[in-house]
Amino acid sequence: MPDSYRAGREDIGDELQVAFGFAGRDGLPMVLEVRPDVAAAQQSVTTAQTNLTKARNDLEKLKAAIASLKEKRQLHVSGIDPQAVAVYGGVKKQRGTAVARVEQGLCRGCRISLPVTEFQKAKTGNLVRCGSCGRILYLA
Ligand SMILES: [Zn+2]
Repeated sequence: MPDSYRAGREDIGDELQVAFGFAGRDGLPMVLEVRPDVAAAQQSVTTAQTNLTKARNDLEKLKAAIASLKEKRQLHVSGIDPQAVAVYGGVKKQRGTAVARVEQGLCRGCRISLPVTEFQKAKTGNLVRCGSCGRILYLA
């Protein structure tokens, strides 16, 4: 073994160790051994399992919350004209926001001035849609 021989061990990644040495005429490192760090790998598995369990618990909580909110929504929707609910659903799907406030004669959804007739209809409380953006209008 030459005098210049050096050896070491280094962690590469969380679960692998590499033993290396420098030898030979060119002085380039030689990999002597790559060995899994079993303890680190087991710790990673444990951590991943813990995270997975937590994520599954969170998912179940979210599913329960969604089911609860769907029930509440159904209760609210049951008292509303089904045609209005259908209009709301269609506009929401198309525009993202289904309703728009009317301020100073403007639809706040698209900022277009409403014709007087639409404004008057909106004042009555009937379901009126903006002629420009299609959102359901309400007065503040
Ligand atoms: Zn509008």
